[in-house]
Amino acid sequence: MARPHRRLLGAAALACAATLALSGCAPEPDPAPAPSATPEPSRAPTPTPEAAPAPEFDRTAHSIDDPASVWVVSNKLRPLDPVDFAPADLVMPEGVENEFAQPLRAEAARAVEAFIAAAAAEGHGVRIISAYRDYATQVSLYDGYVARDGQEAADAYSARPGHSEHQTGLVVDLDDHGDCYLAACFADTPAGSWLAEHAAEHGFIVRYPAGKQEVTGFMPEPWHFRYVGTGLAQEMRSTGTATLEEFFGLPAAPGYAA
Ligand SMILES: [Zn+2]
Repeated sequence: MARPHRRLLGAAALACAATLALSGCAPEPDPAPAPSATPEPSRAPTPTPEAAPAPEFDRTAHSIDDPASVWVVSNKLRPLDPVDFAPADLVMPEGVENEFAQPLRAEAARAVEAFIAAAAAEGHGVRIISAYRDYATQVSLYDGYVARDGQEAADAYSARPGHSEHQTGLVVDLDDHGDCYLAACFADTPAGSWLAEHAAEHGFIVRYPAGKQEVTGFMPEPWHFRYVGTGLAQEMRSTGTATLEEFFGLPAAPGYAA
């Protein structure tokens, strides 16, 4: 009785050995481990993430009245106070061409160095043609313009002493060594349009844009870049606000009060 059974087993073993290389007798995989007795901590359902509201831009983060603030708003109705204000941290921008070797406040100097380097990397050779001008310089500039062109004409393109943004140390006039030196056509040059496009990334705004003379009091000056910091510059850009007056809800300043 045992023999046939053994033979069968033997035959089965042989068959198995013959096919081992192919497949059939591969060992069973180990049984999966028994589930742990400790239950998994039940997970709280993941809340559906709500779109985080963009943090409100704080329009009061810096003073618009203090002449030492990077947000100071100077225009024909808002003279610097005091009118002979001079910044305390003037430094010379480094590694850039600076026609009259005028300084800037340190933060603006570092920013314009990066701005001009970025322009150069895109093939635009840009230089500074004016930066900080002190009160006494503005007096002599303005008086010279009045003597030459009359006060009405001078007021349209040159700030009266104490009203010039250049006196804040936060402003540069830029040029590309081309034919539009301090001219409206600078806006249409490759360098001028690149600078306007990328100013906000470096904390600058075109302070006297085209179409805003009734707000700013100045003809378009596509060469005049005002440093306000990247936060404000990018907020103005993203909200499509062209002027500081409009952004801060200030009265338009088309002319001097007197
Ligand atoms: Zn200027």
